Amino acid sequence: MRKQIAAANWKMNLTLQKGEELLNEIIALPHSLNEDQQAIFAVPFPYLAMAHQKMGGYKNVFIAAQNCYNKKSGAYTGETSVEMLQSIGIKFVVLGHSERREYFNESNQFLAEKVNICLENSITPIFCCGEALSVREANSQNEFVTKQLEESLFHLSAEQIQKVVIAYEPIWAIGTGKTATSEQAQEIHAFIRSQFAAKYGAAVAENISVLYGGSVKASNAKELFSQPDVDGGLVGGASLIAAEFVAIINALK
Ligand code: PEP
Repeated sequence: MRKQIAAANWKMNLTLQKGEELLNEIIALPHSLNEDQQAIFAVPFPYLAMAHQKMGGYKNVFIAAQNCYNKKSGAYTGETSVEMLQSIGIKFVVLGHSERREYFNESNQFLAEKVNICLENSITPIFCCGEALSVREANSQNEFVTKQLEESLFHLSAEQIQKVVIAYEPIWAIGTGKTATSEQAQEIHAFIRSQFAAKYGAAVAENISVLYGGSVKASNAKELFSQPDVDGGLVGGASLIAAEFVAIINALK
């Protein structure tokens, strides 16, 4: 059965002290995760060890990196390998966030290589996809997202694809306060699942968690997560406020 996931994306925010404070506040607020639910915190690289140490003991709570490199090791100054992440206990990596695609020119092919190296090293990619406003206005979001999935993921085996978490994030809804309606989210999530079903079969597609990202907050999480193909959220801004993120965790189905 696929997991329901609340994933925090801190992006390039907070200091070590503020990050630690935020985690302390989250721990102190009442929340619960059942067997099929997970909370994941994608924190900046310098805080991974602190966050893992603090949260690693809690059941179904994980720390994620926000990126990794596509090479095993070597002369790549400033980059971080999956082996390094693994060596400090990290099990998840966010890949292909639209900010990385836009500001760092990450292509579908480059992301395919990152997906491969993660899976080879037992790290779960949280693979982000999603269209810009102009694509949505042209009603081409399905074709756009299909291309992202095909070029970065469809070379994987059925066994491997079930180890990937998908985050559908319409770029027009990220950090803008504009959220896709729950109907819009359900429609494209169902479409994404249908693409996996067409490629790998319905049973495999049913096992893949598809998160929604784009201005998720306490006030809209329950409605979004109640949709049958929305398996939780990848949350930016609201994940920096303890009460907001805990409410989002508690909104998981
Ligand atoms: C994100 O960073 O992936 C995101 C969805 O941000 P926000 O929740 O702030 O829109």
